[in-house]
Amino acid sequence: MLSVIIPAFNEEKTAGEAADTITSVLEAENIPYEIIFVDDGSSDNTWDMIKQASERHDGVRGLHFSRNFGKEAAMFAGLENVSGDCAVVIDCDLQHPPEKIVEMYRLWEQGYEVVEGIKEDRGTETAFHRFAADSFYKIISGATGLDMSASSDFKLLDRKVVDTLNQMPERNTFFRALSFWVGFKRAEVRYKVQERKAGVSKWSTRSLIRYAVNNIGSFSSAPIKIITVFGVIMLAVSVIFGVISIVQKFMGQAADGFTTVNLLLLFSSSIIMISLGIIGYYVARIYDEIKGRPRYIISEKTDEEVRND
Ligand code: UDP
Ligand code: MG
Repeated sequence: MLSVIIPAFNEEKTAGEAADTITSVLEAENIPYEIIFVDDGSSDNTWDMIKQASERHDGVRGLHFSRNFGKEAAMFAGLENVSGDCAVVIDCDLQHPPEKIVEMYRLWEQGYEVVEGIKEDRGTETAFHRFAADSFYKIISGATGLDMSASSDFKLLDRKVVDTLNQMPERNTFFRALSFWVGFKRAEVRYKVQERKAGVSKWSTRSLIRYAVNNIGSFSSAPIKIITVFGVIMLAVSVIFGVISIVQKFMGQAADGFTTVNLLLLFSSSIIMISLGIIGYYVARIYDEIKGRPRYIISEKTDEEVRND
């Protein structure tokens, strides 16, 4: 059986249509399926739409988070709650063409364990967004040695891969890169990013920046290593200035050094503060992980009553 995981946050306009379209595509191809919507704490009628869809279609279920935990948490909740032999993650807004699920499924039947959806183009994005995305992927690719510039969260994973991901204890996950990191036999399916069916993108510039910084932190310790490089540069600079000052002192020209002193002081203290900030950032991440809080809290399910007693 194929499990389809659909993270949905304030998608009242698209959730019903997504359920109808995807069920009809899969039924036309005689693919046994279940669809699981993960309502990421929507504040609109998404949950009602999901409940209605689950009444219309036998194969549709839903989970409702107690608040917004983010798309990563929603995708992992899906992975932890599906029972298929393979699972596909797809956006609720139908920007990922549902027919491609069939193509992915056929590749899985041929024995591939990870089928990546690769974007043929990046759809409509502003120049700034494109630049930011490019820089982000350069850093991530440098850190992981994997080219992910065209990858997306649209992918199919075999049960083995789903189980592997479910066993990972880390809280701060980056689904897109983790599914590369685990390896396995992979194939690619190219797709064109469609226009969003309705509603608006859930990513603000701020949330994208936070997402990028978090993901770099999850996959790279390069920033914390750069601190050592800063230290070495500062040492070299101070040796040069040290020699210059000693020479000046012996030549009796030691006065008038205020500008240099000021500059050095400003420069070195800013480097120290940046370094402390970077260390603090990693300490905060360790703190986050060590608390071991759940990644998400499910408050309702369509198929059973959730009790918290
Ligand atoms: N999403 C989510 N939680 C969030 C933000 C987004 O579950 O906090 C879902 C959203 O409902 C959609 C998918 O993630 O199904 C992709 O979001 P969106 O279309 O807003 O992103 P974009 O396509 O603009 O990158
Ligand atoms: Mg979208």
